[in-house]
Amino acid sequence: MKKLHVSNDMCIGCGACIAMDPDHFDFSDEGFSVVKSNDNITDEIESVVECCPVGAIHLDEVAETEENEPAVEEATEESE
Ligand code: SF4
Repeated sequence: MKKLHVSNDMCIGCGACIAMDPDHFDFSDEGFSVVKSNDNITDEIESVVECCPVGAIHLDEVAETEENEPAVEEATEESE
């Protein structure tokens, strides 16, 4: 599962990511980019990540959270 992250100390507030992908990014009250949503992250997000002139957008691979976990695997026991 991929998750977006914007480094607040790097963002210069140019608005490029927000213009390209307003579904995932928005301006904070301070005028910097914040991640608005991590829903529906597709490979196309890579072009938004790369559009940032200061490299402030990161796409991290994170483990599935419990709420997103599909199912708990049942332990299989072999009995004779
Ligand atoms: S493209 Fe980069 S610098 Fe510009 S608003 Fe988005 S995160 Fe900030």
